[in-house]
Amino acid sequence: MKKLDPDICRRIRTARKAAKLSQDVVAEEVGCKQPALSMFEQGDGTKISEEAVVKLAKKFGISLDAPSSAGEDAQSVVASSVPAAGFCPNPNCPTNHAYRVDGLEYRRPDRAAADPVGGRFCAMCGEALVKKCPSCGASVHDGAVCSFCGNPYVAVLQGRG
Ligand SMILES: [Zn+2]
Ligand SMILES: [Zn+2]
Repeated sequence: MKKLDPDICRRIRTARKAAKLSQDVVAEEVGCKQPALSMFEQGDGTKISEEAVVKLAKKFGISLDAPSSAGEDAQSVVASSVPAAGFCPNPNCPTNHAYRVDGLEYRRPDRAAADPVGGRFCAMCGEALVKKCPSCGASVHDGAVCSFCGNPYVAVLQGRG
């Protein structure tokens, strides 16, 4: 499952909960493993087959066609050129670029530098890579802040001035 709309994951999760169905039951019904469904509902479609997603969508009456919007093509080109890579959680690692907003210090992870081969450890400092948002478990995407829960990926210290 390559191109995944996080909105669809959320809607399927919501629909499943509204139907009071457990992940185990639904996973068996669409022919996937419960952990794969769990990951999928959190926006990570790497462990679920496209076939299972289609069945899920059909079961809950959710359209898999992303709402068409101008500029979507340009976005998907950027997204597909970046491999699913982890970021380094070490705030002092050179793969995390510091920047300041309103006196607060943030880190923008450079995932290509920390995880050039889809490995398990940071290529720069050897720290174990993180591939999910530490706060909500959503798939990590480019940028410094999780678009699901709004928390920064790398824990940062408040600036002193
Ligand atoms: Zn590192
Ligand atoms: Zn998050």
